[in-house]
Amino acid sequence: MSPPAAADLGPCVYCPRLCRNVCPVAVGTGRESASPTAMATQVWLYLEGRTELKLALAAAALCVECGACEAICEVQQPLAHLLGDFRRALSPTGPQPLAQVEGEGALVAVEVDERRWAEALAARLGKPVARLRTEDHLGHDATGQPAWPAHLARLKAALRGRTAVVSEHRSLAVLTAAGVEAAHLLDQLGWSGAGVVHQPCAGPRLPGAPPALALACCGSRAALPSAHPDLAVQLAEDCGRRLYDERPSPEGPICSPDSTCARALREAGWTVEDPLSALLGGAEPPAPP
Ligand code: SF4
Ligand code: SF4
Repeated sequence: MSPPAAADLGPCVYCPRLCRNVCPVAVGTGRESASPTAMATQVWLYLEGRTELKLALAAAALCVECGACEAICEVQQPLAHLLGDFRRALSPTGPQPLAQVEGEGALVAVEVDERRWAEALAARLGKPVARLRTEDHLGHDATGQPAWPAHLARLKAALRGRTAVVSEHRSLAVLTAAGVEAAHLLDQLGWSGAGVVHQPCAGPRLPGAPPALALACCGSRAALPSAHPDLAVQLAEDCGRRLYDERPSPEGPICSPDSTCARALREAGWTVEDPLSALLGGAEPPAPP
């Protein structure tokens, strides 16, 4: 993967911030240094040889790759892709080694945090469920890097034709790219939630709920939580406020089909339900180490 050229960022550098007010990071944090134009400018300055790499990477890591700027851009700038490509090309950490699949069963629960839920799913479905643990959402952030095709091949071989069950959209995207059959916990449980709906920016959505609000971003996507954890929490706080403000009669908890979004919202102080917490009887995840 090659980084974009400076000229690719040019339209954003000279743009009068036309997409600033649809960017959840700029709006949620209130920082002009977190506007799409500012992110693009830092990357452009680095590519022009006029600033340090660490500043450009920090700016690119602000983008949650929601695509809201691209959707309204008059000149069709693929800014989310440019910032993501720059970050992945210049900080190529690669996917973490895959863990072994543990246990037997035609279904494999993909566990992305401390919560262990293969046994609970097995009890619910009345059949054995194996587990695959991952700390990097099966390497999602390494998408497109040189190691990516071999990583996908290893993942497919590890699953051996079994069906992966996921609770969030990033692992689902990787499994789909690997050609592995995958099912969402939402569908396995027939969970629909009852309350104020949070629709994730990708992956399955709750039926019958209004479309996703571009500004209602939980802040858990891409590199924002690892590079700017305080700002990620700020986005999740802002996201919850928006979800309640936008509903005519806001009642009940926030409901999200995605366990990672739900966790980010919960850590910002909101009461949240999601299929995974429902499966585990509402157990809150332990605090991150
Ligand atoms: S994506 Fe389009 S609207 Fe946004 S800063 Fe770039 S050129 Fe301007
Ligand atoms: S993709 Fe989303 S987060 Fe990134 S600059 Fe555009 S609007 Fe902001």
